Amino acid sequence: MPHAAPRRRLVLKMSGEALASSASDETIDAAMVERLAAEVAAARSELDLELAIMVGGGNIWRGTTGAGQGIDRATSDTMGMLATVINALALQDAIERHGQPTRVLSAMHMAEVAEPYIRRRAIRHLEKDRVVIFAAGMGNPYFTTDTSAALRAAEIEAAMLLKGTHSGVDGVYSCDPKLDAAAVRYDTLSFMDLIERDLRVMDLTAITFCQDNALPILVFDLMAPGQLRRALAGERIGTLIR
Ligand code: UDP
Repeated sequence: MPHAAPRRRLVLKMSGEALASSASDETIDAAMVERLAAEVAAARSELDLELAIMVGGGNIWRGTTGAGQGIDRATSDTMGMLATVINALALQDAIERHGQPTRVLSAMHMAEVAEPYIRRRAIRHLEKDRVVIFAAGMGNPYFTTDTSAALRAAEIEAAMLLKGTHSGVDGVYSCDPKLDAAAVRYDTLSFMDLIERDLRVMDLTAITFCQDNALPILVFDLMAPGQLRRALAGERIGTLIR
């Protein structure tokens, strides 16, 4: 019997701030998480793909915030990684309420609440139609969840890294579209152009990692309803960096 073609495997980077809301002042806005979870669950069941999510922690804590206040940097980054675990659990709860099985895989030992990240186990969960949620970034201080998402995407041989923005900007622009009406959005962009023009969509470590490993990045507006599904379906929205 011929083998079925491999399914599209994707890694979605979701910032912690996507789970918060300026309207409610809450660190985690349940209505926001619910909406994103509904979109994830619907897209996962309707589209033939494998989905892993790297969730950030910026709505709760960022390493640089504490370091700026005199907290030891490595300790402050560890606090940031723990923040991502809180977000991962919120996301897991909401996605599973929509009937979509998930597994949280943590890069820091969290035996009571999450499995440890093991590459082959992550792949197995994806093959079994579970949405994998990566928590605690890559487990090392001095890194971001953007770079962690890129690393995990390469490790599990994902076809693409989807960087969902939460700022209302739907891709990469020539300059800040909120400040300059002449800003134009790029449909595609090379890694080299992105770096040379200093267009900061992710931190430089993440971008050069993707460049070195030929991992395309799709930058799109995560907060506009329906865009996540379109991005996962492979529609040409946002900006494709490759
Ligand atoms: N972090 C870290 N190592 C990692 C991933 C994250 O030290 O591998 C820390 C870092 O301090 C970071 C915080 O966790 O500021 C929260 O992650 P991030 O800022 O990437 O979250 P986002 O901005 O995407 O919400």
